Amino acid sequence: MTVDVQTALRSPKSYELARTALEVMEANHVWPTVRNFELWVHYVAEKESPLAQEIDRLLAAGEPITETLGAELAAMFLPEARLNGDILEAGDVLAKELQTVTNAIGSAQKSNEEYGHELAIASGRLEGEDASEVKAVVKDLTAATRKVQSENGVLETQLAETTAELGRLRESLDKVRKDAMTDGLTNLANRKAFDERLEATCDQMDAAGEGMTLAIIDIDHFKGFNDAWGHQIGDQVLRYVASVIGRRGARPRTAARYGGEEFAIIFPSENGRTAMTVLEEIRVEISSRALKRRSTNEDLGAITVSAGYAERLAGESTMSLIERADAALYASKHAGRNRTTAAQPMAAVAAVAAA
Ligand code: GH3
Ligand code: MG
Ligand code: MG
Repeated sequence: MTVDVQTALRSPKSYELARTALEVMEANHVWPTVRNFELWVHYVAEKESPLAQEIDRLLAAGEPITETLGAELAAMFLPEARLNGDILEAGDVLAKELQTVTNAIGSAQKSNEEYGHELAIASGRLEGEDASEVKAVVKDLTAATRKVQSENGVLETQLAETTAELGRLRESLDKVRKDAMTDGLTNLANRKAFDERLEATCDQMDAAGEGMTLAIIDIDHFKGFNDAWGHQIGDQVLRYVASVIGRRGARPRTAARYGGEEFAIIFPSENGRTAMTVLEEIRVEISSRALKRRSTNEDLGAITVSAGYAERLAGESTMSLIERADAALYASKHAGRNRTTAAQPMAAVAAVAAA
């Protein structure tokens, strides 16, 4: 039985025929030209025809159906059976647009509800019977696809921008947070950070059932040094002292600028003996360094520090701990400065106060 392709293409089945032709073309990597479409419509419409058999033979042999080969096949098998112009045009547009749509869908990373809806409508219309719908359907499909693509593009750009913005925000927040906790002159933890860390460390030690030690260090006769050399050189000395203290008070310890020329070190899980050793190292290092004025190389002499430390008693408050360490520092000053003193236990402090 022979099939009249022209009639078939005007029949209610015409779109199914056109679509099947395009599918087969795509599967066989045949470029969607008018000529090829014409050939493949005949191929799918009449599988037993000499044309279809020849094409099957070529495909089986792995022969690519090029434009030239397509033209030869058409000349050989379809001398009179030309498709009418309108359908050819529709087919051509359909073929090319479907290719675009297919590519677009392939490259689109996400879909969305609206797009799914459009596709549902479009496929419903493709199954319809009205020939004039083809172009409209393809147009809608393409528009929907492009919209999804551009929306995806916009979404991705927005996402990237938002991510970058969040990153910047987080960085500046981190910086603000760090700035709020850092002493500007010495870069050590500031008083606020010290207070928080001391409180937190006491809690941790309570939870772990461990002891800890707190030290306070004060530069000796610093007022006199400032008076003799000026505040700016005084600042440089403060930075130098801070660097020595910071090195020995690195994590898990905390070294802080507690006040003007006073520093503190928190020693989590460490006893007074360890603190004494570290404080003596600091004291000796600072006092043995001959300070020079950078600009003139002028000799500034040496400076000394006094220190006091207190090993925390079980359950002791931060205030009491600080008071005892401070009292030990005062004892160092009182005994002649440039020395380290251990705090007395609470009972002794209480006894002295009562005397
Ligand atoms: P003492 O041995 O008893 O500690 O004597 P001192 O002179 O160090 O103690 P005092 O508390 O009388 O003076 C502290 C001085 O520290 C006063 C001030 O000039 C100086 N000082 C405090 N903060 C700063 C600062 O940020 N920069 C400089 N250059 N000096 C400071
Ligand atoms: Mg001082
Ligand atoms: Mg002081």
